[in-house]
Amino acid sequence: MTTKITVLATGGTIAGIAGSAIAPEYRAGEIGIDEYLEQVGGLGLGAQLSGRQIANIDSAEIGQQVWNVLHPAIVAALADDQCHGVIVTHGTDTLEETAFLLDLTLPATKPVVVVGAMRPSDAVGYDGLRNFANAVRVAGDGDASGRGVLVVMGDRVFAARDVRKYRTRGAEAFRGFPRESVGLVTPASLEWFGAPWRQDGAACFEWAGNLPEVTIIYAYAGLSAAAVERQLGDTTRGIVLAGVGEGNMPDAVRQMLAAQAQRGVPVIRASRVDEGLVDREAEDTANGFIAARALNPQKSRILLQLLLANGVTDPVDIQDYFDRR
Ligand code: ASP
Repeated sequence: MTTKITVLATGGTIAGIAGSAIAPEYRAGEIGIDEYLEQVGGLGLGAQLSGRQIANIDSAEIGQQVWNVLHPAIVAALADDQCHGVIVTHGTDTLEETAFLLDLTLPATKPVVVVGAMRPSDAVGYDGLRNFANAVRVAGDGDASGRGVLVVMGDRVFAARDVRKYRTRGAEAFRGFPRESVGLVTPASLEWFGAPWRQDGAACFEWAGNLPEVTIIYAYAGLSAAAVERQLGDTTRGIVLAGVGEGNMPDAVRQMLAAQAQRGVPVIRASRVDEGLVDREAEDTANGFIAARALNPQKSRILLQLLLANGVTDPVDIQDYFDRR
């Protein structure tokens, strides 16, 4: 039986054009999905690919509007008996946010793979073909289901929760924390590290077409309470602190954020440091804060938005979700 894969394209460097093999500047989101599938058609990937253009943009522009088209398109593909798996092509800058949002809101019944590239399609050493061929290998693998949304970059497979972009340039720009990667892939081979972890397959959260506003506050030496206040508006429903070290902040900021928590605006303590846990501390209870654990600020924001959209507002309940992510 031929493996059938639905490819949903959103743009990014994987669909980018520089106009020269060595030019440093390029435009993301230029090649349409039909042209792209024609290009990969010659690779002999052994799967039947059907494409749909969801958007064709730089992923800095990704947000609710695109997600509101992308999510139902994936749900429809997953419901189609003819479809074995879904690939989403995406810019790498915000890929981790889209992947995590989808991970939390899609059933884990069939493979869903998000893939990008660091070099535009006409650059020497374009990584998009290899990454895409690897993504086809993963999306066509029955054993990929039950692992939530997966991200393929290079020859590694990452879980959506773990994956993060940690380099601005170069093909090796992604890594995972706390799990480095969950599998190794080439166009001809696939090895999983461990068994699938999403046994029941059901989506963790209802889809929310209008996620509430959650503000990320970036901490630094000299951050004042007044500077934090300026960033919060009437529509702020939650706050994520990208704290220094293990989610720390100046005392004046702590007092100000504790007052927000008292008013019912949940405050997550995450870290601006690239890797490491932010665990709960004794004062968190008195301050009304929630510890982000393994999630970085941008993923903490997505989880808090979904919790608030689904009516979860009690800090104890929110902490429970962060502990289980
Ligand atoms: N700026 C691009 C984007 O995120 C970068 C990339 O795709 O690698 O769309």
